[in-house]
Amino acid sequence: MPYVQETLNRLQKSSPGQTEFYQAAEEVLESIRPLLEADRRYLDANIIERLVEPERQIIFRVTWLDDKGKIQVNKGFRIQFNSAIGPYKGGLRFHPSVNASIIKFLGFEQTFKNSLTGLAIGGGKGGSDFNPKGRSSAEIMRFCQAFMCELYRHIGATIDVPAGDIGVGAREVGYMYGQYKRLTGSYEGVFTGKGINWGGSLVRTEATGYGAVYFAENMLNSINNSLDGKTCLVSGAGNVAIYTIEKLYQVGAKPVTCSDSQGTIYHPEGIDLALLKDLKEVQGVSLVDYLKTHPKAQYIAVADYPQDGQAVWRFPAQAAFPSATQNELTEADAKALLANGVICISEGANMPSTAKAIDLFIAAKIAYGPGKAANAGGVATSQLEMAQNASMTYWDFEEVDRRLHCIMQGIFDRSSETAKEFNEPTNLVLGSNIAAFRKIADAMIQQGAV
Ligand code: NDP
Repeated sequence: MPYVQETLNRLQKSSPGQTEFYQAAEEVLESIRPLLEADRRYLDANIIERLVEPERQIIFRVTWLDDKGKIQVNKGFRIQFNSAIGPYKGGLRFHPSVNASIIKFLGFEQTFKNSLTGLAIGGGKGGSDFNPKGRSSAEIMRFCQAFMCELYRHIGATIDVPAGDIGVGAREVGYMYGQYKRLTGSYEGVFTGKGINWGGSLVRTEATGYGAVYFAENMLNSINNSLDGKTCLVSGAGNVAIYTIEKLYQVGAKPVTCSDSQGTIYHPEGIDLALLKDLKEVQGVSLVDYLKTHPKAQYIAVADYPQDGQAVWRFPAQAAFPSATQNELTEADAKALLANGVICISEGANMPSTAKAIDLFIAAKIAYGPGKAANAGGVATSQLEMAQNASMTYWDFEEVDRRLHCIMQGIFDRSSETAKEFNEPTNLVLGSNIAAFRKIADAMIQQGAV
């Protein structure tokens, strides 16, 4: 079937230089091949061409004043990818690496992830190349307000509901929500990840990390195994990594690493979670400061690591949780993980493993949970926040966590049953992509040429 190459050729012409987006599209297109061969309806309805083209791409200038009174300019993005099964839903990322390719790959992945949750949410993503590092709180507020001055006209509780991602946490969501309310005069559930005292949901902060661990437990339980007693590698030191580590301790596992963009901590006794939270959530400092409290832990600076890939993947362990950023786990890292005894990988980050690394995991038939399945707990809990806002109720921590648990089990079951249906029972990349695709594509066919 030539449609994969044809589609990629077309994308390269119409959207040049978007390598991350091609990577995300190719993975999905390759893995839905067996479905397209079995059911002609999807090609006949030209679903592929429609699915890789976002419904709307908004790119705008964000002009704001820094603390010295100088005018700064950044690029803002919101890509509304697909609304076949619900309003656009997906986070905002503030990071200097943000460009159209990154936001498009994230929006494309989000569309499939949201479908997999079984909830009525379409896919979108946005952000800016603004770098919050080193900026004062006042500068961040002014940037968020300027960003929202354009974005507000494109979003709404039943239209498009943004949330956080890298560089966007509760503080930034608060500033953007405040500005939205000032501009529209409307107090509505237009954001998720809001503060608990003004419409946020309990468990939203923990949800992505907790969900990635629940997903790993689902995968291991299905082969009569569990995380109990397992040594685990975690990358990242942000929202997803911290709550992955917290849940790993709760299920009896031992996380021994974490990392940031400067370096990796290896602490064989187990990562000191309280210290990690203090360094990253309170002080906002580099992980190298971990050594002040634990001088015997090892710190490997990125600059001192000459090999291909990352130090964080080179320690003995049975499970790994990539929780930092895209393409952070290379083919060389995958070989090291497999050689060191890893039997389970659950991706908290979006597209953290390169295509070659994924090929190795699938060939080894280990329990490999791709990001769009394993990290869907965040957006699923965002949808629970929307449901609470819409019905003007609050659920307690146990209730939201119980629902998150059920949703992660549902995602695993759907992915695993679909993988079995197509005779590749351990291939959750195939299972999750086909299950997600089928729901969106069927809705698109039923809604006609729109
Ligand atoms: P945060 O901004 O809270 O944390 C990101 C962490 O990753 C930081 O420790 C950061 O280090 C580190 N990091 C970023 N880039 C690199 C790099 N190139 N090399 C090594 N470390 C790096 O973001 P989140 O935890 O929210 O997001 C992490 C990942 O999870 C992203 O891929 C995101 O898209 C995905 N995700 C997040 C969800 C959520 O609910 N937050 C939901 C689903 C997926 P430093 O501070 O030094 O830059």
